[in-house]
Parts: sequence; C-alpha cells; structure tokens
Amino acid sequence: MIQLTSISKSYKVGEEILDVLKDINLSINEGEFVAIMGPSGSGKSTLMNVIGCLDNPTSGTYLLGNEDISAYKDEELAKVRNLSIGFVFQQFQLLPRLTALKNVELPMIYAGVGRKEREARAKRALEKVGLANRVNHLPNELSGGQKQRVAIARSIVNHPKIILADEPTGALDTKTSISIMEQFTELNKEGVTVILVTHEQEVADYAKRIITVRDGLILSDEERGR
Ligand code: ADP
Ligand code: MG
Repeated sequence: MIQLTSISKSYKVGEEILDVLKDINLSINEGEFVAIMGPSGSGKSTLMNVIGCLDNPTSGTYLLGNEDISAYKDEELAKVRNLSIGFVFQQFQLLPRLTALKNVELPMIYAGVGRKEREARAKRALEKVGLANRVNHLPNELSGGQKQRVAIARSIVNHPKIILADEPTGALDTKTSISIMEQFTELNKEGVTVILVTHEQEVADYAKRIITVRDGLILSDEERGR
C-alpha cells in the first residue's frame, strides 16, 4: 500500500544543506502495525510527514495505493491526506476552544460532510474510544489520556486506511500509554494500517514490525512474533 523508493529529504538551513532522509526504501502493506524507533533527530518525524503527505520528499518515488503521488502539489496532497490518512500527535493538537465533539467533527468539515451526519459520526467515534460521557467537555477539562482518545476519535472519523501517530504516548504515563496502545491494537485488528513513532520499547512491542532509523537511514526492519 505504501511504497517509498529512494526517498531523500534535505533542508536548506542558511548556507548548509541538511540531508535528513537518505535514500529510504520502504514498503508497508495494508493492515500492518509498524513502530518506527530511533534517536532524537534521526529523521522519524520527517519520514512520517512524507508518508502522511504533509511534506514532499526532495527526491524519490512515493506510491500510495497504486497512485504515484511523488510529484503532487500541496492541494492534491491535501486531498489524498484527507481521504486516506488519520493523524495522532504527541501533544494531541486539539483546538482548545472546541468541545471534544467539535474537535472530532473537524476532519469531516474539511471533507464536506453535512452537520447532522458529522455530529452522529463524531459521537460514534467518541463512543468507540470510550468517551461517550465526555462529548461536551473542552480539552482542558480532560486528562491527557482522554485528550489523546479524542485525537484518536478525530483520526478515525473519516475512516482512513492508515493512521500515523508520532509519539502518541510521549506525553502520557505508563498505564495511560497501555490503554492508548490497546486502542491502536483494536483499530489494527479492524484492518486499519497503523504506523507509529515511539522511543519506548514497551510501546513498540505492540507493533508487529519494528523499523529502526538512524541518521536518516533505515538501520533495521524486523517482523515480530506477536
Ligand atoms: P526525529 O523525529 O527523529 O527526532 P526529525 O525528523 O524531527 O527527527 O528531524 C531530523 C533532523 O531534521 C533534525 O536534525 C532536525 O533539526 C531537522 N529538521 C526537521 N525539520 C526541519 C525543517 N523544517 N527545516 C530544517 N531542518 C529540519
Ligand atoms: Mg520526532
């Protein structure tokens, strides 16, 4: 489903060129559960941004499904992103003035879903992550784990094939992290492809495949018996 061939990403910082991803080759099939690990600054978030169509690679080919999206412009990338990919971030990225329900409705507003259906689908997504009784709460009235559940509800509300989560448990304690990982495991069992970045081995252990990145290169790529 995801096929990266010779993907490189460089940034120009002042006079210097910084090579952040170096000739990455990577295939991920539909239904996989992948953890990406590696030290800080090794290029994990950059790789996630390329996979998530948030950023273009400097060179290389990206096939998503059967579509070659390598040369897509921002607008086309945004379309692919809204249709196929859900995002979860370390700091939740909820809008502070919107209730849980309204936050979850946002991706559907961008997708042009009508109000009634938006509300119904947002409620269902919040029920799914165990927050049926927190629909009208604002983010600052929720715990960290609950905020991340709202973010997960938001990520699934357009029924994406792929969920990308960049350090989704980085701001959470161990017990809460486990409950969040169980949520991703359940989504994966339902057929969603889950790709997440983590520093924590206990979190990575939920995945069926662990990819280690170092200095812009894939250092190892292992299937795990789980
Ligand atoms: P990780 O997520 O593994 O910590 P990142 O992908 O965020 O690493 O960053 C990898 C390297 O690329 C870092 O050295 C970072 O400073 C640099 N970098 C990331 N984004 C940008 C950017 N937009 N402009 C310039 N340099 C960047
Ligand atoms: Mg990062």
